[in-house]
Amino acid sequence: MRSKKIELVLDKYLLFTPGPVNVAASLRNAICKEDICHREPDFDSLLASIEQKLLTLFEIRKRNRYRAVVITGSGTAANEAILSSVVGTGAILILSNGEFGERLYKTSLIHNARTHLLQQPWGIPFDTDQIAAYLATHKIDVVAMVHHETCSGMLNPLAAIGTLAKTHGAIFVVDGVSSVGAEVVDMERCNIAFCSSSSSKAIGSYPGLSFVIGRKKQFKKLKLHAPKTTYLNLATFYRFLKDHSQTPNTPAVPLFFALDQALANILSEGVATRFARIRARADQLRLGMRKLNLEFVLDEANMCAILTTVKVPPSISVRDLRDKLREKSIIIYEGKGCFAGKVFQVGNIGELSDHDTQFFVSTLRDVLLELQAKAADVVAPIQPKISKPILSALGTHKRIAII
Ligand SMILES: *Cc1c(COP(=O)(O)O)cnc(C)c1O
Repeated sequence: MRSKKIELVLDKYLLFTPGPVNVAASLRNAICKEDICHREPDFDSLLASIEQKLLTLFEIRKRNRYRAVVITGSGTAANEAILSSVVGTGAILILSNGEFGERLYKTSLIHNARTHLLQQPWGIPFDTDQIAAYLATHKIDVVAMVHHETCSGMLNPLAAIGTLAKTHGAIFVVDGVSSVGAEVVDMERCNIAFCSSSSSKAIGSYPGLSFVIGRKKQFKKLKLHAPKTTYLNLATFYRFLKDHSQTPNTPAVPLFFALDQALANILSEGVATRFARIRARADQLRLGMRKLNLEFVLDEANMCAILTTVKVPPSISVRDLRDKLREKSIIIYEGKGCFAGKVFQVGNIGELSDHDTQFFVSTLRDVLLELQAKAADVVAPIQPKISKPILSALGTHKRIAII
């Protein structure tokens, strides 16, 4: 019903993106709660409530061994907090197979002189033998990896890499920004020391908060390292949490209310039920898109449940596709980096109904048909490619002229 209204009124977007997401009505109310002071018991209990819910979301079994700090700042803040706080003067190995792995690497280079990198092309799974061999021949203290590589949709193997890190005496840290809230992250089984995530992706809240959940034992060790940043020092976050149930600096309190509500919504639905529902929505979308003869960048077996990366059909421009869908109130992502112009991304998190999904697939179909028809009109008359021979002739001429 909602989509129909949107089609006419255009007052609201359906965010088929991996975040930001359409938030639940209960969050709109939560963010407008009373004004409180973050140095008062009201905030202490709000933060404690969020922390407890995060431990439940992560299905932590030995709850007294883990803590979670909440940071005012998007997912990058949590990643930078980890990368600047846990390595000290040691060596870190970044595993990258996409844009967000590359971002971890660039961030680590700023803070850690001894930053190593093992990379695969975007969308290609890691080679665990290669990683094992690297760890056997290099002294590495920290291994860092993105769980869900959002640029391609690839879900990277937590258990396998966690085991390798442990075997070689390294701690394992994970960017879970786009997977937490939709995929299982078993910190205990996968030997994860710290995991980051944010409020605005699969957790389904407003953007602006992120968090780091970690083993207490590892949090305690952080004070041994000299601080590398003021705002994002995890040791300071941990001290304030432990001593006061507060944050070191002024937190974005309304966003904390919203995050608490988003987590309450997840827990009242049930973690497993929610994960299954998100995966079913992805399956529904993927089936719909396969029926339109669209192809995906990855095997479905390697995909996270939150988004699908789709190859753009020949003769269609992603920009046009995106613009046309926006006219129908649907927002999608364009591929970036080496995927730019070649793929588009369709997320399926946030408050989207089955009806919204059906509306998406039928609108996508109409838009693709329209753009294909237009392309056929334009492409057909301009058959001979005159630009190529001219260019190469120019090239030759230029070279001769220089000599
Ligand atoms: C979105 C995202 C981030 C952080 O992005 P922000 O713009 O800071 O929210 C980090 N890692 C991954 C895997 C992401 O998908």
